Amino acid sequence: MTKRIFYSIVRTSVFTTVVTLILAKVLNNENYLINSGIFVISVLFAVIFALRFSRKITRPLVEVNPDNPKINYSEINPLINKIRIQKGKISRQSNEVRSGREQLSLITENMNEGIVIVDTRTNILSCNSGALRLLDKKNVSEGQSVYLLNNSEVFRRCIQDAMGGRNSSCILKTEHGDREIIASPSNITDTVNGIVIFIFDVSEKQELETMRREFTSNVSHELKTPLTTIYGISDMLANGMVKPEDVMQFGQNIRSEAERLIILINDIVSLSKLDENSVPHEDTEIDLYNLAEEVAGRLQCRASEKDVSISVTGEHVSVIGNKTVLDEIIYNLCDNAIKYNNNGGYVEVKISHIPTKALITVSDNGMGIPKEHINRIFERFYRVDKSHSRKIKGTGLGLSIVKHGVMYHNGTIRVDSKLGKGSVFTVEFPIDNKG
Ligand code: ADP
Repeated sequence: MTKRIFYSIVRTSVFTTVVTLILAKVLNNENYLINSGIFVISVLFAVIFALRFSRKITRPLVEVNPDNPKINYSEINPLINKIRIQKGKISRQSNEVRSGREQLSLITENMNEGIVIVDTRTNILSCNSGALRLLDKKNVSEGQSVYLLNNSEVFRRCIQDAMGGRNSSCILKTEHGDREIIASPSNITDTVNGIVIFIFDVSEKQELETMRREFTSNVSHELKTPLTTIYGISDMLANGMVKPEDVMQFGQNIRSEAERLIILINDIVSLSKLDENSVPHEDTEIDLYNLAEEVAGRLQCRASEKDVSISVTGEHVSVIGNKTVLDEIIYNLCDNAIKYNNNGGYVEVKISHIPTKALITVSDNGMGIPKEHINRIFERFYRVDKSHSRKIKGTGLGLSIVKHGVMYHNGTIRVDSKLGKGSVFTVEFPIDNKG
């Protein structure tokens, strides 16, 4: 290139001198003004030619393709090589950044939880689809305010606390369930540079928590009632306040309340075992017909007291499962069918099967269950009619135990009932079930 510039200058100078000499000769004029004019014209020509030449020289540089730099000037080739190496480095680094970002977004997009990153002006820097789904939002995107995700007072306070440098959390109630929000500040030095928000679906956890609270309060109530009666009667006996002829009756009352306590405690223990999954998995083959006959035998006495007949019909069908749990299922269903029956009524236990399922059907012609209560009878401590339930003893836990026992064996339970006509409880177990 140096050569080219050199040649260009030499060429222009020679050209200017030649033009000046030719004009001076042609005009043969020794006039000072004319000679100066000729010189100015020559300089002008020189400038125009110099411009054209310099453009010609720099054109290859201006027109160089940055994606594939090639040039014929040997002096520039080392620079071009450096640019090529640098370009390779930049392209590798930007590929790494892109693939890192793609990987991160692939991971966060497939999470069930929500993640939102927010800058100091509470604008969203990044937000995965989990966050939008959990907060029931569709059109909130990066760059917009985080409060477009939720504008409640509790959410605002949570974000503001995190912006103030404190870890904070709250529970949001949405149409589709409860969401736990955890907002954590990110501080490089002492100042907050942004916050990261995690969103979890805690509907099930909250439901379990409510159930646990209700269960504890129900248990306390159910234990308190018989214990108060026992305490009251024994206090009167201890203070000699009971006439000798009434002592027997008072003793019977204590026994009956103690019995109620024992049944309640046994039911709670059974339910807790099923709840905690601590029932041992037995792979025993159980003949449901034989088991139903065993249970009916144990309940015969109670049925006779109420003048209710109990019978087992059907066929021998076996399932693999836990005998104690299966026994509890049949016992509770038959016990209810006797308890909520009328004098002279019947209870029928039928064992049958369809190609892939074993069926236990417990039918009675007792008092039946009002339609509006049918969906609730499997809840813990739920009793249809508290007033008649006082006369008919029970804990309200029997059908809960049945339901959990059936679920334990991967089965299903359904009930058909007509008020005043009777009820039919049908349990289905997969025949090849492994318990
Ligand atoms: P309980 O200890 O009160 O019997 P369960 O959980 O076994 O508790 O039953 C819940 C409620 O369902 C009972 O209180 C009763 O009102 C109703 N129920 C259950 N089985 C029958 C049935 N065979 N006939 C009529 N009502 C029934």
